[in-house]
Amino acid sequence: MKLSRVVFIVCAALIALGAGGCTKRQTGVSGIDAIKNANVLKAGVKSDVPGFGFFNTSTNKYEGLEIEIAKLLANEILGNPDAINFEPVTAKTRGPLLDNGELDMVIATFTITDERKLTYNFSEAYYTDAVGMLVKKSSGINSLADINGLTVGVAQSATSKEAITASAAALGISVNFAEFSTYPELKAALDSGRIDVFAVDKSILRGYLDSDTIILPDEFSPQPYGVTTKLSNKQLADYVDVLIKKWLNDGTISALIKQFNL
Ligand code: GLU
Repeated sequence: MKLSRVVFIVCAALIALGAGGCTKRQTGVSGIDAIKNANVLKAGVKSDVPGFGFFNTSTNKYEGLEIEIAKLLANEILGNPDAINFEPVTAKTRGPLLDNGELDMVIATFTITDERKLTYNFSEAYYTDAVGMLVKKSSGINSLADINGLTVGVAQSATSKEAITASAAALGISVNFAEFSTYPELKAALDSGRIDVFAVDKSILRGYLDSDTIILPDEFSPQPYGVTTKLSNKQLADYVDVLIKKWLNDGTISALIKQFNL
């Protein structure tokens, strides 16, 4: 059978099933067209993660790997790497801001998990971190084994609680959790003694490290970060995924990782 005939039959079957995969886009503005119409990319980024998404108050600019990825994407979509509205997000706010359409995408240490893939689209991972622990130097805590019975502070909507729970259970120890909505609140809780451990991805902890604290060498649960889009925005998700894969293959992302010492 000729290829054109096979294509015709497959298309006819898809149309009959209502899949519409062989018809042109009809009504509605696609994810990419919406960005083009607005002539700006609305990107949710972190403002407190050095080397990833960090707002530098001396230059009044965002900087880091995730900022550069946003610029590369804006350049592809709009032909202008600076046509971006950066919106600072937290683990708690980034999902809802995608859902309500305030953001086109989130590039903000957003860990790809099977559970989250049911609610959002994630690109291929551009970086993989791990969960770590920040403690006071004076605490005498050296590793996970030392935190039996202590209180671990974690952020709401983050993967940290699950990661620490699993690793603690594997060691046969138990910990208490206190949940906070932002990282500055977690650091204040550590400083005041309300929590004994501040647990989250090591990249994020680095933003809160000071002369009184240390990041322990232990690390748990790989945290692969992906560019995140609204689940219904499949066209944009696929477009972004192709580009991330291209930049992983051609060395663009590894050069940025090196540039930011990650
Ligand atoms: N990366 C982790 C997560 O997605 C930590 C939270 C955060 O990114 O702020 O849950």
